[in-house]
Amino acid sequence: MTEEKVQSNFIRTIIAKDLESEKHDGKVTTRFPPEPNGYLHIGHAKSICLNFGLANENEKGTCNLRFDDTNPEKENIEYINAIKSDVEWLGFNWEDREFYSSDYFEKLYNFATQLIKNGKAYVCSLNADDMREYRGTLTKPGKPSPDRDKSIEDNIELFESMRAGEFEEGTHTLRAKIDMSSSNMNLRDPAIYRIKKVHHHRTGDKWCIYPMYDFTHCLSDSIENITHSICTLEFEDHRPLYDWFLDELKTECHPQQIEFARLNLEYTVMSKRKLMKLVEKNLVEGWNDPRMPTISGMRRRGYSPASIRNFCERIGVGKKESRIEFGMLEEKVREDLNENAKRVSCILKPLKVIIENLPEDEVIELSTQNHPQKPEMGERIVPFSRELYIERDDFMIDPPKKFFRLGPGKEVRLRFAFFLKCIDYKTDENGEVTELRCTYDPETLGGKAPDGRKVKGTIHWVSAKHALTARVNLYGMLFSDINPEESGDFLENLNPESIEVLDDCKIEPSIKDAEKETTYQFERQGYFCIDSNDDANGLIFNRTVSLRDTWAKIKKG
Ligand code: ATP
Ligand code: MG
Repeated sequence: MTEEKVQSNFIRTIIAKDLESEKHDGKVTTRFPPEPNGYLHIGHAKSICLNFGLANENEKGTCNLRFDDTNPEKENIEYINAIKSDVEWLGFNWEDREFYSSDYFEKLYNFATQLIKNGKAYVCSLNADDMREYRGTLTKPGKPSPDRDKSIEDNIELFESMRAGEFEEGTHTLRAKIDMSSSNMNLRDPAIYRIKKVHHHRTGDKWCIYPMYDFTHCLSDSIENITHSICTLEFEDHRPLYDWFLDELKTECHPQQIEFARLNLEYTVMSKRKLMKLVEKNLVEGWNDPRMPTISGMRRRGYSPASIRNFCERIGVGKKESRIEFGMLEEKVREDLNENAKRVSCILKPLKVIIENLPEDEVIELSTQNHPQKPEMGERIVPFSRELYIERDDFMIDPPKKFFRLGPGKEVRLRFAFFLKCIDYKTDENGEVTELRCTYDPETLGGKAPDGRKVKGTIHWVSAKHALTARVNLYGMLFSDINPEESGDFLENLNPESIEVLDDCKIEPSIKDAEKETTYQFERQGYFCIDSNDDANGLIFNRTVSLRDTWAKIKKG
């Protein structure tokens, strides 16, 4: 599909200027630095599109994939693989630049030692509570730790002992010696190493001290010669610390940290930690549940990579936090599928139609090109026979004036086929309509009557004896609140009606050889994707997005 037009943004402007002044020898080196502690969500997609996008649009641009793996308890290989598969699926390629912060542990340790030698770091033996107490608050300056002025030699020895596993967790930290009275809390002697006697998925049991994010991140960027280190706004207050480490260590490369506003989407949450809760509590089917705002969920729901990329380009990159309408994402999904999805007819809530003037064994093969206004994208041959299914909603016993579908005595056009007139209907004991008796007019193939009589409505249908039975999952919003995190526990805002399962849908036989993950337009209904978890080929479809329903609009007034 057509890619969204590239718009300028403040980061593109910064890069253009840097290229002009040859600040980085014409290079643009970015990175996408996920922590492998869950699956990626659409917010990450924004960051991926931005970082890889900036690299791709510049001649000497590259983007690294760097796993920020410094919290071994929460991280594992399943997440690493899922992240790689999502980035790839989105259409980006890190080539041979797959990096891990853990690959730098030795270097980071040496940097830390260097800081100690420069008198800029010390081993502190306050426990966590005391450390918090000593740190002060926004209105109260911090107090220096009793260990702040220990000698360089003592600190080196203590830090070596930390590494050697001689101390228990929580008893010692290595801290940067910056400014306990800084108005920026991040500069009040932040911890840079803590003891954690846990196994790491890559380094095994080699380490029992692990570096903190702020220390790791800037140095990993520097080691990789990143030119522009792009992150979300909450790191703005960390930038002085980012710069402090690199300045103190006089690193050759000093990347520029640039912050942008994170993506928030209506009716959902955007944090791996919260999404993990949904998974752990079995409130969804898993990380790739089609209702999840994860990339894998959206993929399973039938969103294409192009539509997600276009959405990310469309929302732009700025400095102001906002919550984006879900409809904006859906609009991009529709735009793409409208161009690319194959069409089929599927009856979601079937109502049987008997055509009285068509013999039992007759089958008329019809081309989907038979349509006066809108020839189909690609031709299919669909069978037409005495028994059809139509949508329940396309018949009303007592239809109002503007209902241009079927009612007793009314005539409609069957898409690609003939005019159909309802002459009678049957109901059950509850008054539910169970069957329509109709006639068709063989003179009206393609939807025009030779006598010039007009019908206003066109409905879709399938031949009963040829149709396959499918299950269709209709999805609504996962949460009932625009901002589920605003008040109290976000789990209380789950939408109890976020899924409706229809078990007896009737779909035209051309679907037979369809592959998983293919998305179709079901005539007049919306876009539906064959479920990727459907191993038994049981024809399970997930609704990707609905079409706009004009009748629902009329009804609402
Ligand atoms: P989460 O809370 O979901 O775990 P995170 O920021 O902790 O988010 P990381 O794995 O550390 O997740 O993020 C990798 C990159 O993705 C970071 O550069 C981060 O800034 C970016 N990112 C995360 N969430 C968003 C978002 N909602 N919008 C834009 N970028 C995001
Ligand atoms: Mg995180």
